[in-house]
Amino acid sequence: MTRHTGRGPGTAAVHTPPATVPAAPPFSPPVYRTSTFAFATAGEYADVLNGVEPGYSYSRIDNPTADAFAAAVAALEGANLATEVSGQPFASGMAAISTTAMALLSAGDHVVCQSALYGGTWSVFSRVLRRFGVEVTFAGAPDAEVIAAAITPRTKLVWVEAIANPTLVVADLPGIAAVAHDAGALLGCDATFASPMVVRPLEYGVDLVVHSATKYLGGHSDATGGVVCARHELTAAVRALRIDLGGSLAPDEAFLLHRGIATLPLRLARHCQTAAALATALAEHPAVAAVHYPGLPGHPHHARARELFDPDRFGGMVTVDLYGDRSAGMAFCDALALAVPAASLGGTHTLVSHAASTTHRQFDDASLAAAGITPSQVRISVGLEDAADLIADAAQALDSLAR
Ligand SMILES: *Cc1c(COP(=O)(O)O)cnc(C)c1O
Repeated sequence: MTRHTGRGPGTAAVHTPPATVPAAPPFSPPVYRTSTFAFATAGEYADVLNGVEPGYSYSRIDNPTADAFAAAVAALEGANLATEVSGQPFASGMAAISTTAMALLSAGDHVVCQSALYGGTWSVFSRVLRRFGVEVTFAGAPDAEVIAAAITPRTKLVWVEAIANPTLVVADLPGIAAVAHDAGALLGCDATFASPMVVRPLEYGVDLVVHSATKYLGGHSDATGGVVCARHELTAAVRALRIDLGGSLAPDEAFLLHRGIATLPLRLARHCQTAAALATALAEHPAVAAVHYPGLPGHPHHARARELFDPDRFGGMVTVDLYGDRSAGMAFCDALALAVPAASLGGTHTLVSHAASTTHRQFDDASLAAAGITPSQVRISVGLEDAADLIADAAQALDSLAR
């Protein structure tokens, strides 16, 4: 064997000089785009993986960019609380919801949900968890008495949405927290439609709050993610199952979602203000049968929203019923020039969804009626365009229907 000195170019190409770690910490969170972390010794590696020492080992387990995003959301959700709130980052809102539910439930347990739920959540509870022996009751409205009536001695979890899709009903968070806790159950709340700039559910006794970060938190329709915030013992259980199930947030997505947080207060102030103006204008148009917006005095939960939400904040989502059937709702979407028919919400651009043919396509007519979804109903995610332009666009679209 000839003696080999130095290193070959193949080795040099792989074992490059390490990037400098600056003494001054970087101002913006770096994208730790790495799947694994290098250790000096086998012992240090084992200690971090075994939780003996803190640290990062593998990005499905934990990633610093993903953690920075979850910590930012936890700081918002817990801003007014004396107790510490921690967050867990996920690859999507559904990864956050399914992992949280599975972390808290076992075969034989019972869940109570309000009836109006995001379709993916409805599917996880009614189809997936049932296959694993979890019983589910869809109770009806997010009112304390309605939820209380559905609770059984086996109920371990109650699940609501702060503002529900698409009718924008508002959950009685403190009332439902009280009945859940009386029964020894935990209360989880999906606050995606509200965002922490409208309501922070943990302030009202909710145990776990989840978001599809894809929506308002990211805010630019360019990243997919989710997050769960709760007291540490609960997020520790959720983290443990996230590691096993693997729905962990990627660092590039985490960077974009984290960057969205800084402008969340400004964006939400604008979304709410424009949505209120649009809702008021729509309610005055003769082609509109009804407008659903928690900020309108006629909304069934207007008083509840005033009590629970930040002052003058009722969210950026507006839902409208037209005269006529499904075709009227679809024609309205098609007649809009600025607003775009598209899935998702909470971004810079105004998006519209005709509920019966898109977000609630799985529902038959009877289920649609039970959920308060009329055949023509259209959901509007109000973007950051000028309010006057959105109102003019809606008016010309509605005028075209009347003709
Ligand atoms: C979009 C959405 C989800 C799912 O989030 P993904 O990021 O798409 O997985 C859950 N709940 C609500 C209310 C949503 O709007």
